[in-house]
Amino acid sequence: MNQNKKNKKLSFNQNVERMVEKAMKVLEIDPGTAAAIQSCNSILQVKFPVKIRGQIEMFTGWRAVHSNHRLPSKGGIRYAPVVNQDEVEALAALMTYKCAIVDVPFGGSKGGLLIDPSKYSRDELQQITRRFTLELCRKGFLSPFYRVPAPDMGTGQREMAWIADTYKHLFPEDINYTACVTGKPVEHGGIRGRVEATGRGVQYVVQEFFRNEDAVKRAGMSGGLDCKRAVIQGLGNVGFHAAKFLSEENGVKFICVIDWDGKVTNSDGINIQDLRNHWIKHKTFRGFSGGVFDEDSVSGLEMDCDLLIPAALESQITIENADRIKAKLIVEAANGPVTYEADKILLKKNVTILPDVYVNAGGVIVSYFEWIRNLSHIRFGRMQRRYEEVRGNSYLNALETLTGKTVPEHFKNDVVRGADELDLVRSGLDDSMRNAFNEIFTTLRDDDRIEDYRTAAFVIAIRKISRSYLDLGIY
Ligand code: GLU
Repeated sequence: MNQNKKNKKLSFNQNVERMVEKAMKVLEIDPGTAAAIQSCNSILQVKFPVKIRGQIEMFTGWRAVHSNHRLPSKGGIRYAPVVNQDEVEALAALMTYKCAIVDVPFGGSKGGLLIDPSKYSRDELQQITRRFTLELCRKGFLSPFYRVPAPDMGTGQREMAWIADTYKHLFPEDINYTACVTGKPVEHGGIRGRVEATGRGVQYVVQEFFRNEDAVKRAGMSGGLDCKRAVIQGLGNVGFHAAKFLSEENGVKFICVIDWDGKVTNSDGINIQDLRNHWIKHKTFRGFSGGVFDEDSVSGLEMDCDLLIPAALESQITIENADRIKAKLIVEAANGPVTYEADKILLKKNVTILPDVYVNAGGVIVSYFEWIRNLSHIRFGRMQRRYEEVRGNSYLNALETLTGKTVPEHFKNDVVRGADELDLVRSGLDDSMRNAFNEIFTTLRDDDRIEDYRTAAFVIAIRKISRSYLDLGIY
């Protein structure tokens, strides 16, 4: 019986809980506070009918609110053929810790709709999304100041625009209606740089890691990012942007890209943009001329490489394959790609893991900027951009007058140009990611009880959250 219990696979939620408990132990948090932090505050399940092609179809959706210590509670909504309450709760919990780690003043939340979006037309998806939104509004699970969703797997700008529009129709008097959801198209109150944000954040994490010589040495690595060999799993929104930026701007060589039905390999490096274009056209990597395709996708994770970036689903590295992983550094772009048991094995093998709860926070960071933009009703940079240009020109003129020399044309643009919204978003994202990395690294380096980045990240999150519980008291 006990043996059975031991061998039973942990659910996603239990995996997250075990990882958090490891950090709770370090902090010696009392059991009451620990339980208050760990438990999911509320969970909504809805079942609703939609008439599709003349037939009534029932849909099931969830929205979990893990924490309310900061409001609104924030997190994406995923549309997937496999999603359940346990998964949504686990993802909501990760959002709580994620926001705390990168200093985004939100609680954690997550939603899911059980659906295979590829089986429905655009109009049908719109009908389903609007109906789901109605359910969320009616039950108090959607509001600019309280509950604010965002895109996740299977959803994007389009769905967010439908959600905002449905909310607006229900609450036309709410002047802040655009802030009820983030990840919207720019024409509907979205912010520039939100689509690329999570992938861009992954790039900033990796850059910061390689800037830190101690961190590189601790991981048993050396040198910079240029020509490092990488394997990535998943070329969706997050994986694509992370791989594109790392290869085009940092010289990382992607020797393998893994998809659900196979992998592409090329020891000279794969052109990520070309592969993505191929995938958009054919919905498979099969037939891609810039590498060799084979159907054995899982073995890609075990290839000899410097960086392994799981950017697809949870529970991809488990006790089954952890022993065979050869990468020195795992960068968790997906949520929960390494299970608790696999994490222990990898730690013993001295594999460094940069954890999901920090690595993929770029999305919610830029969602935070979008939310502020919506509440302030003004685009970032609108007031300052031309003023900065005028000042830049004055500096240049002064410099040229004083030195009697002319500043070369190619410098001029950089000096004179005022920051636009995208510049500011990227700068804010980079700053948040760098600050968080340094906090996590220092915590890991200075505390002998902590042996990995994940525990260090959770320690930071729990410290911040418990402080807010203790300061405010629980009533
Ligand atoms: N779905 C994204 C995440 O898991 C973004 C959440 C948000 O922007 O609120 O972090």
